[in-house]
Amino acid sequence: MALRNIRTDDDPILRKKSRAVEKFDSRLWELLDDMRDTLYHAEGVGLAAVQVGVLRRVVLVDVGDGLLELINPEIIETEGIQCMEEGCLSLPGKQGHTMRPMTVKVKAQNRDGKWCVYKGTDLKARAFCHELDHLDGILYTDKLASKAEIEKYAKKED
Ligand code: ZN
Repeated sequence: MALRNIRTDDDPILRKKSRAVEKFDSRLWELLDDMRDTLYHAEGVGLAAVQVGVLRRVVLVDVGDGLLELINPEIIETEGIQCMEEGCLSLPGKQGHTMRPMTVKVKAQNRDGKWCVYKGTDLKARAFCHELDHLDGILYTDKLASKAEIEKYAKKED
């Protein structure tokens, strides 16, 4: 088990764009394994490689139904809308509402380079959007919902 340091707050690397993974080799697998250990140790639902200081398009998501390793992920379809509170392992102690699609379909490569499609609803859809944003240097605090949006969409859930 190897934990990596999670970059936090105004660490400038969090604002950088990650590059595509080209080699599916032991170095990638080591990164994936370390990210898994780091994610579970921090008790998060998602982690992007940039959060451990590696500018590669690699994301892990586990909302409690198993670990997904998403390499070079892209959103290919979205549906509906949700407004829920979000947090980030890189912004400890903070939370805020964001607008996200209710359902998200993601295309990504697995650790062997094979393309797969994953569908997420609710928390998993939020996690996909949140983690993929990290790959482009975007944090959820850039996308906070307005008070009017929170009121409008919070009501719909009653
Ligand atoms: Zn985050």
